[in-house]
Amino acid sequence: MDKAVNNRRSRGHSAAPARLERPTRTEAEAAVRTLIRWAGDDPDREGLRATPSRVVRAYEEWFAGYKDEPQDYLKRTFEETGGYDEVVVLRDIRFESHCEHHMAPIIGRIHIGYLPSNRVVGISKLARLVEVYARRLQIQEKLTAEVAACLDAVLKPHGVAVVTEATHQCMTTRGVHKPGVTMVTSRMLGVFRDHAETRQEFLAAIGMRGTHIANGN
Ligand SMILES: [Zn+2]
Repeated sequence: MDKAVNNRRSRGHSAAPARLERPTRTEAEAAVRTLIRWAGDDPDREGLRATPSRVVRAYEEWFAGYKDEPQDYLKRTFEETGGYDEVVVLRDIRFESHCEHHMAPIIGRIHIGYLPSNRVVGISKLARLVEVYARRLQIQEKLTAEVAACLDAVLKPHGVAVVTEATHQCMTTRGVHKPGVTMVTSRMLGVFRDHAETRQEFLAAIGMRGTHIANGN
């Protein structure tokens, strides 16, 4: 499997976008009808008649992340560490997102590590954090950086490491048609950025031992 390692710089945490005036459901469905006609089909034929309303409902799920402020969500969930001072690693959190360039699915896994100072957060909360950012229009670099920055800001750990591996359907089903290509992005903060040994410990824990991941910062 080809792996294009990409550590492009991108800015860290960004808040939920300012709320824009939302079109009505009827307007959104009309837009889907237009796209069906643009594709070359007839939105009034039987098989497509309910499609605009189904697509609009699907959008409510795929883009549910705009409703949530991940930082606030995490703030309510931290617990004291009870003196635990080892790296916490959560690997293979599956996510589904959509690229902001083509609105095509990005499907992948994200691995998170952090070295707590005095706060830890439950596994389900980390998965939920990923989901909130994933359910927005994204680029993989930004998703990776946002998850890292949010954990860093809320838990104030000694360091955060995030590695994301994903396939982009805008690359695999159209354009360059490169099935099997996985993009890898990473963000290393604090001790994971400054100490190669800690970084390697994390990479080994997620099964990427020996992988050279430069300081994604
Ligand atoms: Zn794309």
